[in-house]
Amino acid sequence: MSKFKIGDTAYYANFNPLQEKWTTICPECLGTLKLRVILATEEELSIDCECCDHGGYYGSQGKMQTYEPTPNARQIKITGLEDRGEGNERYYFGGSYLSDSEQLFVTEAEAITCANELAAQYSAKQEESLHRKKKQKKKWSWHVTYHRREMKRSLADAERHAAKLGIALEKAKATK
Ligand SMILES: [Zn+2]
Repeated sequence: MSKFKIGDTAYYANFNPLQEKWTTICPECLGTLKLRVILATEEELSIDCECCDHGGYYGSQGKMQTYEPTPNARQIKITGLEDRGEGNERYYFGGSYLSDSEQLFVTEAEAITCANELAAQYSAKQEESLHRKKKQKKKWSWHVTYHRREMKRSLADAERHAAKLGIALEKAKATK
């Protein structure tokens, strides 16, 4: 027995995930763009924060961008109903369809409640992915290793070139 039949009016609970943008301060560098790394040798380094580096030219931004979903409940008219067997029904309306009636309601109030829940679930997922990005320590330590290696290599290159020119190059303290 289907919840709605062709010609019925229903309220469709949904949310728009991209309508409002909001920025939040980077949870890892607190907007300072830098992270302090203390090595086992007690040497302290400062590296660019990877958490708020969204790629591209600008590097670390000190803030994260997320989307605040906007719940909505709109009235639709069911124009088609397809019984797909085993309790699966497809409701057609205004050029699209839903494969179950979970987001369709008789009253607007019920639809709004559902839309709010869906939007809240979406927000929670966004929070979660923000949290996941916080746990990239392994990648960050790789950056330290990489930059130190490249620095040593460049200094060695500089020394070699300097030697060819007969210039004495003072060895940088960083290359122990
Ligand atoms: Zn950051």
